[in-house]
Amino acid sequence: NQKKAPAGGGSFKDNYSVGRTLGEGAFSVVKEVTSRSKRSNYAAKIVTKAKLTKEDEIALHDEIGILKKMKHNHIINLYDVFDEPSYYYLVTELMLGGELFDRIVTKTFYTEKEARDVCKILFDALGYCHSHAIAHRDLKPENLLLMSRNDDKNIKIADFGFAKKVSSSKCLLTQCGTPGYVAPEILHGVPYGVKADMWSLGVITYILLGGYPPFIEQNQRELFKKIKRGQYEFHVEYWGQISKEAKDLIAGLLTVDPDRRMSAEKALENPWITGSDEMLDGKD
Ligand code: ADP
Ligand code: MG
Repeated sequence: NQKKAPAGGGSFKDNYSVGRTLGEGAFSVVKEVTSRSKRSNYAAKIVTKAKLTKEDEIALHDEIGILKKMKHNHIINLYDVFDEPSYYYLVTELMLGGELFDRIVTKTFYTEKEARDVCKILFDALGYCHSHAIAHRDLKPENLLLMSRNDDKNIKIADFGFAKKVSSSKCLLTQCGTPGYVAPEILHGVPYGVKADMWSLGVITYILLGGYPPFIEQNQRELFKKIKRGQYEFHVEYWGQISKEAKDLIAGLLTVDPDRRMSAEKALENPWITGSDEMLDGKD
């Protein structure tokens, strides 16, 4: 049910002019584009068909189908799709602030208040996905995009390239994601579900507050061992000044057993998230 021609008719190039490159993936390049009719700017993920296997093609159709369904202020909005002989074009809203990844690198770390605001948005948007039985499966700061260059909080979840509908609480088996962010149950190869995303959010929260990842190991085998044991620390040099509430939340998310791991819904009720700004004052 994918339209071959948009409302105005014609090809992608008839409808949009292509500008600078915003980012690059394995089979895609993301460019800033301008609508010829509306004169407004968007981002277009341009996927080269020749590079796709049959499985990649299925994943891309899942990505499109899921993005079309997800309507949330903090999930990237998909405006238009073009299926042309050599390329797919996914036209989404333009996120001028770039990746959360780069923002963390320039800021070094977020204050507790800033981190709380970002996390609240992420739990809310993820809760929305999970309530629609959608697992994102590749949450990491490269896939979280900021609206503007002068706001560190207004963030949206992007890249639903691994996203999948879950038919029951634990029905996924595909090992995917990114090493430092992947949940233990995925590494164990047992059926998993949406809770795997909550682990990744635990890793992201840890990075926002600490300024470095909870699981670091040169050797991937060693890294996976640590993740499977849930072996991480709050080093006093970096975490001494950080509230107990923040650490409790991270511990709830970085819980090895997915059944005992905090859900998005529960995370939104957590005292660190619901607490007043005053509670976090001076906690930076
Ligand atoms: P891939 O599946 O190849 O990782 P992504 O959807 O994550 O593709 O896009 C790759 C990169 O392109 C992102 O990490 C980001 O830097 C940039 N990007 C993607 N979508 C947008 C957007 N809507 N606005 C601005 N930059 C974007
Ligand atoms: Mg990506």
